[in-house]
Amino acid sequence: MSPGKQPTERIVLLAIAICALVLFGLSAPGAVAQSDAAQAANDEIRLNIEERVPPGWLRWDPDQVPLRPERWRRRMPRQCRTQGGYREHCSGERRVPESQGEARARRDRLGLGSRLTARWLMHRSPFDEWIRSVAHLGEEANLRFPVPGGRMGRGVGRVRRGSVRHRRHNGLDIGAPEGTSILAAQSGLVAYSDNGITGFGNAVLILHRGGFTTFYAHCSETLVAAGEFVERGQVIAKVGETGFAWAPHLHFEWRQRGWVRDPEPRLVNGEGERARRGRRIQ
Ligand SMILES: [Zn+2]
Repeated sequence: MSPGKQPTERIVLLAIAICALVLFGLSAPGAVAQSDAAQAANDEIRLNIEERVPPGWLRWDPDQVPLRPERWRRRMPRQCRTQGGYREHCSGERRVPESQGEARARRDRLGLGSRLTARWLMHRSPFDEWIRSVAHLGEEANLRFPVPGGRMGRGVGRVRRGSVRHRRHNGLDIGAPEGTSILAAQSGLVAYSDNGITGFGNAVLILHRGGFTTFYAHCSETLVAAGEFVERGQVIAKVGETGFAWAPHLHFEWRQRGWVRDPEPRLVNGEGERARRGRRIQ
């Protein structure tokens, strides 16, 4: 061993020590960065709804809309009256907010907000990703009556008027003056808030825990956007008569995994008492 080698070894050892320190110093924040990256990658998983629905759903079939409802036709503004049914139906003025920030990211990641989303939830069981996104919400057995001061009108399955007489009524109509607040019946995730479903005008669809959904239609405007979480009792829209409506009212639907359920026995007023027909319900 030559005496000149020792300083070289020291330098090498020192260099190794410095490298180790530098690597150690970088590795701790590096690990955090990596977990952030994993989280980001997880967030990058996108549910592309167009790939999930049957191909036929992508061709939106205008013949599915109720044809020639003469009663509505006469009441609609001139520009909404068309020949050959309601292919160019009048949905009223589109008044819906735009998703922002985190809600917008959630909407895009989960494939919410489109009428395909609404159609899926109104006919099929929600996708696992959607079920998981509301799994943390509390369990709520009953439904908050969504229009304080409103009156219950036609219920589920009751005979409809005119040319849509043969079609089952899938919800509960609640009469109230234009502009009355509509409340979320339970806490949930807004899956749809737009004016793209024929006949329903400005409408909101909320996904709840356990594969349940509530739907609020004919609104003069909606106040929540797809991807937002809402609390039970939160104001989500205003009563109106957009779409096929003969007077201001809320068309309210309650479904479980796409199956229509009658909400009436589950509705409670602000005091938690059963909501009954025949008088205004608060
Ligand atoms: Zn209705």
